Amino acid sequence: MSFETARERMVDRLVTRGAVDRDATAEALRSVPRHEFVPPDRREAAYRDRPLPIGGGQTISAPHMVGMMTDLLALDADDRVLEIGTGCGYHAAVTAEVVDDGSLYSVEYDPDLAENARSRLDDLGYDVRVRVGDGHEGWPDHAPYDAAYLTCAPAEMPDAIVEQVRPGGTIVGPVGESRQRLVRLRRRADGGIDRETHGGVRFVPMRRGD
Ligand code: SAH
Repeated sequence: MSFETARERMVDRLVTRGAVDRDATAEALRSVPRHEFVPPDRREAAYRDRPLPIGGGQTISAPHMVGMMTDLLALDADDRVLEIGTGCGYHAAVTAEVVDDGSLYSVEYDPDLAENARSRLDDLGYDVRVRVGDGHEGWPDHAPYDAAYLTCAPAEMPDAIVEQVRPGGTIVGPVGESRQRLVRLRRRADGGIDRETHGGVRFVPMRRGD
């Protein structure tokens, strides 16, 4: 089976079982060649709905998780978005399919992963800005963002990320140490924060100064 056919079938299954709801999310998952983002010896597994190792002890999330987070963010095309944890760049590419070119800013802790993701995204035609740094600080230069998401789990949602999202904006990500929950935060215009939880998840921990 070709990669394209395998990808179509995987996304059809995600839609049928209700893991992915929004058309824009399904279209994005149909467009991004996940096999280009995984190590060569993992390509055959690229269209199974599973997390995969991407080197450096890190993992790329399962497609249903990328789809669920993209649905939860409910992005508009003209949103400016902050990603924490570029990894191999797959999730960034999915987001980049939903928003306008040049609207996604991504922070990666590991310089090698950042460099690889940058060149891979560039080769595939995705206009994503990638910076090496600690996501606990967000990326203040391009704030305010309409939305932010994390692909690594902080013990608690970092204040800097919350502050860099505009009032009315949304943040989605895993939070917690031994027990992680996927949360969606909404900054209210009055400065308060609404918080929803969307079940238990397992992401790599967000590193800090180690
Ligand atoms: N979205 C990625 C998933 C990568 S796994 C993908 O599609 O491949 C999580 C990533 O978060 C890893 O690359 C890890 O290096 C990164 N990370 C961990 N701690 C971080 C921190 N403090 N700041 C930024 N990135 C971090």
